[in-house]
Amino acid sequence: MKQFLVLNEKKDKLMKKIKLTSLVVICFAVWLLLPIPIGAAGKYNPISNIIWCSTPYVCLHEIGHKLDDLSGWPSKDPEFQKTVEDLHLDWWDNPQENYAQIYAAFVYDNDLLFAELQHFYDWELSDQLLERHKLWLTPPQ
Ligand SMILES: [Zn+2]
Repeated sequence: MKQFLVLNEKKDKLMKKIKLTSLVVICFAVWLLLPIPIGAAGKYNPISNIIWCSTPYVCLHEIGHKLDDLSGWPSKDPEFQKTVEDLHLDWWDNPQENYAQIYAAFVYDNDLLFAELQHFYDWELSDQLLERHKLWLTPPQ
């Protein structure tokens, strides 16, 4: 009887460890894969490629990050960064933010993209992403 109680106690401890470990793994997966916007209006998660955004314009910005990622990060190209600086479009210190913001501004208003920057954006992929996320881009009626 005593052995049975000891075994049961060990089993309970093991089950608690398994539950706690599962919870930690689930929390880590959520943190890793979901775009968690801490104090931001939108977020792109480059691991899962999932976007979260609160307004159509912010969605465009986040799609810009996704485009940058799926295109192999042209924002990290020194030529892109130099061109952005020369055009005084370096609104942020972070080239990835500049890339996404310039993209959003251009898609929002086609007159805003300088010819010098056109080739840094994959417009075919952009069309696919805009089509995929078109529901988010339509303001509520
Ligand atoms: Zn951003």
